[in-house]
Amino acid sequence: MNDIPGVATRRAQVALTQLNTSQSCVIGGTPPPAPESVRAGRRMTDSHGRTIRDLRISVTDRCNFRCIYCMEPDVRFAPRESLLSTSEIIRVARIANSLGVRKVRLTGGEPTLHPELTAIIAGIRAATSVEIAMITNASLLTRDALRERKAAGLARVTISIDSIRPDRFARLTRSTSSPSDVLAGIEACLAEGLTPLKLNAVLIRGFNDDEAADLAELARVYSIEMRFIEFMPLDSGHAWDSSRWVSATETRAAIEDRFPLVARDDDDPSSTARTFAFADGAPGRIGFIAPVSSPFCGACSRLRLTADGKVRPCLFSTTEWDLRAALRAGATDDHLADFLIDATWTKQPGHGIASHDFRQPARPMSAIGG
Ligand code: SAM
Ligand code: SF4
Repeated sequence: MNDIPGVATRRAQVALTQLNTSQSCVIGGTPPPAPESVRAGRRMTDSHGRTIRDLRISVTDRCNFRCIYCMEPDVRFAPRESLLSTSEIIRVARIANSLGVRKVRLTGGEPTLHPELTAIIAGIRAATSVEIAMITNASLLTRDALRERKAAGLARVTISIDSIRPDRFARLTRSTSSPSDVLAGIEACLAEGLTPLKLNAVLIRGFNDDEAADLAELARVYSIEMRFIEFMPLDSGHAWDSSRWVSATETRAAIEDRFPLVARDDDDPSSTARTFAFADGAPGRIGFIAPVSSPFCGACSRLRLTADGKVRPCLFSTTEWDLRAALRAGATDDHLADFLIDATWTKQPGHGIASHDFRQPARPMSAIGG
């Protein structure tokens, strides 16, 4: 985030890329075995009583944006041969489904950059019963591509949009796209029936924190859910700093200055968002995802697979397990299932962002798969 004073120096000190994980992330090889009784249950449960239902698969670490809170302009990507192939991704999804996963979210990087995205969706659809969702920056969405992907099995889309002001959008995303490209993507999803559609925004103090109500208005205009995610220490520049962080409480207050909200009480307990309706009865809803101010780790049902085939029990894990090595060493489905069960068993109780010994993982969100 080189627009923030002092950060350039810190970046130079960090001088880490998402590939150099040696200092604060251990590639753990094979996870230690979970207890036999846990393995025998053929479910991914952890030692804190949580069960995995939601697998996030990063299909690529590449992106056509360089959002200031996510990816530095000079970020280095993993070598192509280290990325999981389409058939490897489908195989992992199938095995995870056999262990109780009900939803797969395809993410990245930017998933729509993957040349075989439709084949990945079709392969997962054919091999599993999971709901297939995707999160995208929407800059490359076309109605034809969406129609094809929906026919292949894509059920749900989430779109990220952090600003509706063209100059600011360009500064935030460091891209040549504009908010109108994203709005066109939103309209294309709605036209193709990829609903319910959700939007995500990250507010950064001093950049776009004055746009909370304008972004909230998109929920009313399109009758969809607009969600505000608190900025997390997962940026590739390691520039996260509490002075740039905007709490969900503050965001809600800014929205309520224009659009009073009423809490809904039908949120799924494992959902990351707490949602609100508009008090005046307008359509749409607002969600707040507050991992920093109100961690929701206790109900976490998520596991992550990175584009290069590492299993991350948590976004903030400093250990990740090398499923790709097992896949490429000829492991059987049963062995891979045990691997996923064992990796889940190592899931930490919480991310500990607020704790004094919190260490930011070396991998940024884009490499983990948000
Ligand atoms: N490129 C796609 C997109 O932007 O929607 C998918 C990948 S992106 C990593 C997934 C989500 O992570 C986006 O909604 C993005 O805003 C969010 N994200 C990325 N870095 C973040 C950070 N440091 N804190 C909070 N959210 C972040
Ligand atoms: Fe790319 Fe998404 Fe990260 Fe932005 S948030 S740089 S669009 S991966």
